[in-house]
Amino acid sequence: MQLGVLSGKVAVVTASTQGIGLAIARRLARDGAQVMISSRKQASVDKALEQLRAEGLDALGTVCHVGKREDREALVRRTERRHGAIDILVSNAAVNLFMGRALDCSEEAWDKTFEVNVKAVFLLTKLVVPHMEQRGRGSIVLVGSIAGYRPFPTIGPYGVSKTALLGLTKVLADELAPANIRVNCLAPGLITQFSSALWSDDSFRRRFEAAITLRRTGEPEDCAGVVSFLCSRDAAYITGETITVAGGFHCRL
Ligand code: NAP
Repeated sequence: MQLGVLSGKVAVVTASTQGIGLAIARRLARDGAQVMISSRKQASVDKALEQLRAEGLDALGTVCHVGKREDREALVRRTERRHGAIDILVSNAAVNLFMGRALDCSEEAWDKTFEVNVKAVFLLTKLVVPHMEQRGRGSIVLVGSIAGYRPFPTIGPYGVSKTALLGLTKVLADELAPANIRVNCLAPGLITQFSSALWSDDSFRRRFEAAITLRRTGEPEDCAGVVSFLCSRDAAYITGETITVAGGFHCRL
């Protein structure tokens, strides 16, 4: 039997019961990793586990609302207890709570956006890093967005939270390099399962699709292989980078 590129590695993926997170979890498992999936609802976890196991993949799952300290701690504790290690963290959870003019965003919606999209990412990373240090290696992938590079009308606060992840990626990459832990970021473009509110706005969607060089929206699977690559030995000399997966949509040079 041929061993996968992530064979022997243990991966934690947040918000991984549907969409991009589930596609990443599936791909990491196919590539040989032992994967711990998670999201807020037990029913979502059960359903996703059922799908993965039906495909013959090795995965465990647990409830984790990334904004809740006790859930983050339980996610790390359960992974460590079941697998005795953590080599990979894919921080995929995010919310987009507000649509409209950024200046009309309430303080509550602003705080919640940053709590889930930025602060929880930082706090979960803090929890995971000691386990990677113990292991002597690690790979962290933060899931950002092209909205972090280029502001889009109506989702300003979400975009600013994703911009913060570009900075967090750089800071963590510098600080964790001595521990042999690489930190990179994935910036998806318009992927089919994106927020139904935006998706159902026909004019937004048409304008956006017209600006995509490859003339199609992406699939969660378009993101998954890139994350697997970033966590593999082939990416051993890549850290602090953000890879955009956006069909050529212009968001940076
Ligand atoms: P999605 O299809 O809407 O899936 C959301 C997943 O997140 C579900 O599994 C959900 O399960 C879980 N979830 C929601 N809130 C959570 C929380 N607070 N803690 C833990 N899990 C939570 O999401 P997606 O579109 O694939 O997006 C995934 C990531 O890609 C996000 O970071 C997003 O910003 C980024 N992104 C997506 C696109 C796109 O076009 N789709 C574009 C750019 C960036 P439960 O309901 O059980 O919690």
